[in-house]
Amino acid sequence: MARINELRDGVFAVSTDNWRLNSGLVLGTRRALVIDTGAGPRQAREILGAVRSLTDLPLTVVNTHAHYDHFMGNAVFQRDGAEEFWAHRACAEAIQEHGDYQRSYVGTHEPEMAAADGPDTRLVVPNRHLPGTGRRPALTRVDLGERGAVLFSLGRGHTDNDVCVGVDDVVFTGDIVEQGADPSFDDSYPRGWATALEHLAALDRYRVFVPGHGHPVERGFVLQQAQTMRTAIERVDASEAAAAQPEGLRPVTASMFRLPYNPGAARILLDRLERIRVEDAATAALAALPGPQPRAD
Ligand SMILES: [Zn+2]
Repeated sequence: MARINELRDGVFAVSTDNWRLNSGLVLGTRRALVIDTGAGPRQAREILGAVRSLTDLPLTVVNTHAHYDHFMGNAVFQRDGAEEFWAHRACAEAIQEHGDYQRSYVGTHEPEMAAADGPDTRLVVPNRHLPGTGRRPALTRVDLGERGAVLFSLGRGHTDNDVCVGVDDVVFTGDIVEQGADPSFDDSYPRGWATALEHLAALDRYRVFVPGHGHPVERGFVLQQAQTMRTAIERVDASEAAAAQPEGLRPVTASMFRLPYNPGAARILLDRLERIRVEDAATAALAALPGPQPRAD
């Protein structure tokens, strides 16, 4: 059963058990906004049931990023009448390109979605986009009738397509903020992510931060997560700098970096930083070639 938590007048967190997901609901006078739709029709029906126990308004949807648990329930909301699905442009592109692959992640809880077999198992790609490419901050406003929600991107972080949704003094952060588990670095941009967290924590208007997973948190938690991430990145950088010295030794195992995360998350962070380093070096080498330049953004 979905759990409903009214955070402010007409602003709700809708929490479901699988993946400890938090969806959101914001009520205007003409429309309501649903934030994140679950990993398939089963979870989406739970979320929709909670939403429909609270409002009969037509629904608009926003997907905070292109990870399966945040968008694979879209078809259930489309069947309910939702026409506008908001996301970052790069989120829509990622769903288009990699959405089907992500079915392989949901077999245990959403077997129909995994098999692409059954009602509401098609992928619904977001059709309304924030401006920009995802690398730089961007913002738009969705009017719900006597209330608006602000959709904004803080640049690359947990993914290259994260969107936060702010209304009143509440902000739904997607997986930029994670409560109860280490951050998921899999396709993240850790340096940009730490910066995004610092920017998020500096937005004075917000007092309640609803993470993609876990309990709502306060500003101090967001700051702490930013500082922990900075510390981790600095330790990796320091190790790399030491290894670059004559006779320098590079840590061999993840634990030797003494990162403030569990070994699994630490390993993924290290792999991710290394991969980005290689990609950046390749981009720089490419840019040094004569001929058409890759676009800076
Ligand atoms: Zn995610």
